[in-house]
Amino acid sequence: MIIVMSHGATEKQIENVIDKVHSYGLRTHPIFGVQKTVIGIVGDDKTIVVENMRGMPGIEQIIPILQPFKFAGREAHPDDTVIEIGGVRIGGEKVVVMAGPCAVESREQLLDIAGKVRASGASVLRGGAYKPRTSPYSFQGLGEEALKYLAEARDTTGLLIITEVTDPRNVELVSGYADIMQVGARNMQNFVLLTEVGKSGHPVMLKRGPSSTMTDLLLAAEYMIIEGNSDIILCERGITTFETYTRNTLDLSAVPAIKHESHLPVLVDPSHATGKSSLVEPMSLAAIAAGSDGVIVEVHPNPEQALCDGPQSLTLEQFDVMMTKLRAIAPIVGRSL
Ligand code: PEP
Ligand code: MN
Repeated sequence: MIIVMSHGATEKQIENVIDKVHSYGLRTHPIFGVQKTVIGIVGDDKTIVVENMRGMPGIEQIIPILQPFKFAGREAHPDDTVIEIGGVRIGGEKVVVMAGPCAVESREQLLDIAGKVRASGASVLRGGAYKPRTSPYSFQGLGEEALKYLAEARDTTGLLIITEVTDPRNVELVSGYADIMQVGARNMQNFVLLTEVGKSGHPVMLKRGPSSTMTDLLLAAEYMIIEGNSDIILCERGITTFETYTRNTLDLSAVPAIKHESHLPVLVDPSHATGKSSLVEPMSLAAIAAGSDGVIVEVHPNPEQALCDGPQSLTLEQFDVMMTKLRAIAPIVGRSL
């Protein structure tokens, strides 16, 4: 349920309504829009005596929310969310490209990639410090050492940095370095992690689990929003199907579908979706054509030597070519790069 305050509602009237909701033992989630303030009610709001509240000064309307994802959905929040971090706007007119190695392997490797992807037009550097690997014997990431290299790469290039947090106990540490934290596909329904990331209030990219529906993804986002974090980017990175040619099946229809249901920005990760570097460029172009707010791709100077996900990594040259094509396609769908 949401309470829509009238255009001229005063701060005092808003405060009174919030206090009243709290008196029923429920939490509130105010959304301050340009025109109006909307107060979302968190909890089992059936107990609210709607009739009692309806007469309160400043209230325009009390509306039940039918979407299961109360705050990630467009019913409560019709306008697109644009997340602004250090001058980069995610979800706005410009599409955003995040690029970098699957895992940070060394300081030299990262600084080299950072300078080059920046020159090609990326605005965010990706690089895993804590790697969720299928096998416990695979490279697990350099941990805090990698976070330090990422921070140095940000300082030298001006790129934002995104890196994955896999453990609720590391949220404070990772948010101290990263501009955007990533919750990976395997952790999409790690509700303890989602709650901690939500409490941190730090911008986050939430990747769709390989066996999760779009509704599951939006409900996972909801876990963070109700803790006070609305700076959430959603990411489609392929789902499990019977097809074996690709690593996963890129569900491109999820992009317009999620954007129809939700106000949150949506990115596509064609690297993990396909597992094949040859498919990364065409799927990136398709993602932008389908209305994605950007792409996140894996890039490595020498994919054959990569410690992680080499077969799906673009070389720096391939990345540069792809960027030229993305720049050409973006205006066709009313965007720029
Ligand atoms: C990653 O981006 O490094 C990653 C592990 O992706 P996913 O969680 O989508 O598998
Ligand atoms: Mn990877």
